[in-house]
Amino acid sequence: MPELPEVEITARRLNDALLGAEIASALAPGVNALKTFDPPLSSLAGRRVEGVRRRGKHFVIDVEGDLALLIHLMSAGRLQLFEKPAGPRDRTSRLLVRLADGRELRLREFGTKQAAWVKLLARDAVEQDEALATLGPEAWPDPPELTDVLDAARPLHPLLRDQRVLAGIGRSWVDEILWASRLSPFKRGDHLDDEERATLREAIGQTLDGALAHYEETVRLPIPDKLPMPLRVHRHEGEPCPRCGTTLAAVHFEDYVIAYCPTCQTGGRVLKDRRLSRLLK
Ligand SMILES: [Zn+2]
Repeated sequence: MPELPEVEITARRLNDALLGAEIASALAPGVNALKTFDPPLSSLAGRRVEGVRRRGKHFVIDVEGDLALLIHLMSAGRLQLFEKPAGPRDRTSRLLVRLADGRELRLREFGTKQAAWVKLLARDAVEQDEALATLGPEAWPDPPELTDVLDAARPLHPLLRDQRVLAGIGRSWVDEILWASRLSPFKRGDHLDDEERATLREAIGQTLDGALAHYEETVRLPIPDKLPMPLRVHRHEGEPCPRCGTTLAAVHFEDYVIAYCPTCQTGGRVLKDRRLSRLLK
């Protein structure tokens, strides 16, 4: 699941590779992927790419003539650059941007859901688009003061990955950040004291910095279908805590899993399921 560090490294690599490249044509084979119709995709032909950047977990591809593609990968999308166009059998393609030099930028999506989406917008309309206009402050590179941001009667785990509260963090990195902060995923945002807020803010910055430093070393084009994420806690339940050796625990929800260290984060309490975790709020 691509979150801020994965989208950021992809945007950096694509920016380096695509800057100045001329678009030959663009089409959206996924019936549901393209969410706008004016301007049409055909208006991209003959224009040059002016940059690829990240906003929250979105990509913005700036195109000559004050246009921009706004792209969200959702849970199973990838934005990949290939040396050759896709064959007709590639059912994963949602958007194809063919370049004049023969390369092809492809928005692909794995699995059965078609959730990844694209909008072609006037560039000055991008920030006002509902997807970006509703975003909270960026979690990185300079995490905001958390005093107002997290002042809510909700547990930290859902709060930190609420894009309207803080943009960029999702189900994987939130576990790493809370573990680094030694905070319970079930502690309420408005129950943090000043010191805990400062620790959490520092952990957000350092954890995402660390992820990006790792990706800078390891990620090259083409971006692989599965980006190996340097996670130490998320999806590591049952393994020893990298800090204290206690067995990492997990709470399973319908569509996600919270992993944590009982010793470092919950005062030794092991929360086995959602019902129990509610008691701890
Ligand atoms: Zn621990």
